[in-house]
Amino acid sequence: MSNQGYQVQIINEEKGKGLVALRSYEENETIFEEKPVVCCQFAWNEDLRYLACDNCLAPLETAEENARRLSGKKDLVLPYPECCETKTQSVTECPACGIKYCSEGCLLEASQKYHKILCLQSREKNENHPLVQLKETWKQMHYPSETATIMLLARMIAFVNQSEDKASALSIFNQFCHRTVNEDQKIAHNLLGEQFVGQIDVLREMMDNALNKENVPYWFTPDGFRSLLALVGTNGQGIGTSAFSRWAKNVSALELPQDSRMQVNMLIGRIYDDMEKVVGPFWNNEGSGLYSLQSSMNHSCLPNAIVEFPFSNSTLVVKALRGIQPGEEICIAYLDNCELVRTRVSRQEVLRSLYLFSCRCDRCLEQADDYDVSSEDDMCDEGSDGE
Ligand SMILES: [Zn+2]
Ligand SMILES: [Zn+2]
Ligand SMILES: [Zn+2]
Repeated sequence: MSNQGYQVQIINEEKGKGLVALRSYEENETIFEEKPVVCCQFAWNEDLRYLACDNCLAPLETAEENARRLSGKKDLVLPYPECCETKTQSVTECPACGIKYCSEGCLLEASQKYHKILCLQSREKNENHPLVQLKETWKQMHYPSETATIMLLARMIAFVNQSEDKASALSIFNQFCHRTVNEDQKIAHNLLGEQFVGQIDVLREMMDNALNKENVPYWFTPDGFRSLLALVGTNGQGIGTSAFSRWAKNVSALELPQDSRMQVNMLIGRIYDDMEKVVGPFWNNEGSGLYSLQSSMNHSCLPNAIVEFPFSNSTLVVKALRGIQPGEEICIAYLDNCELVRTRVSRQEVLRSLYLFSCRCDRCLEQADDYDVSSEDDMCDEGSDGE
């Protein structure tokens, strides 16, 4: 009983579930907007002091503070301060541990969903706290550029433990795609790298030390823990936010006289160059989240929809890239823009190793007979602009 313009349904035996349009969509039209069940900033990203709301990853510093820190230029001044979106006056913190949130709303939501259990209850860093040890151990196995964090698993467990209706909390995660034990194992290994495979059980034992397993006993078994890693590996959607990128984007939308435009464009270019020198490609607050509806969407190398983060936090929007007809499957690309322009063989290699499927999208089928030239050498500078 809904008047949504889409529906999750079985596409075919091979693909399983997918999202299908029930009405037509125009190019650029929003198909849906979704908040994550849980999301979490990456461990290194957080420790390297990328300041984000612990609940929604919204930037907590102004564009100017952000640019100063990332470029190492302490006296940098940004013009057009009205283009900065960060509301520093609404930033608040957990009274017990001091973790920061963008708003009272996020503080309350985190506390209700998972933070009561995960709160360290102290402002001083206690190296012996089981959750701190878990995170430190994870950091030694998963260096930047990060693609996942063990703390997202901790949030999932805490979310179930804290919810009044544990069965329905658990069923939210059970909707995420299911795989065989063997497949889960492969994905978990790919996520961590072969050299750390032997340590998966170390992580599992540390998780066991840190959190109550009573409500989710399967997740703490060797197979169940791998399936949890695999769930996060295949369904985790990357999230990036940046106060400076948002400012720059808003500035580019201003109507300015030509010389002011040139000046500010040069300034922005210089700041990006300086940031590149200091922090390399790491400009964003980065993390990942689990989204119920978005994770039901299948991949296509010629997608008709795209995931965007227009609010500079973890709320995503799925938008039509072109006109979509009723009955058509709505697909996004699991590959980033660099991977997407590669040949069929190298696209399929990535999809097989990370998601364990052979893509049969229209583009792959069309290129099935193409002579495949390796395109590994087409270097692509990945845009890292907080979008
Ligand atoms: Zn927030
Ligand atoms: Zn706290
Ligand atoms: Zn394909």
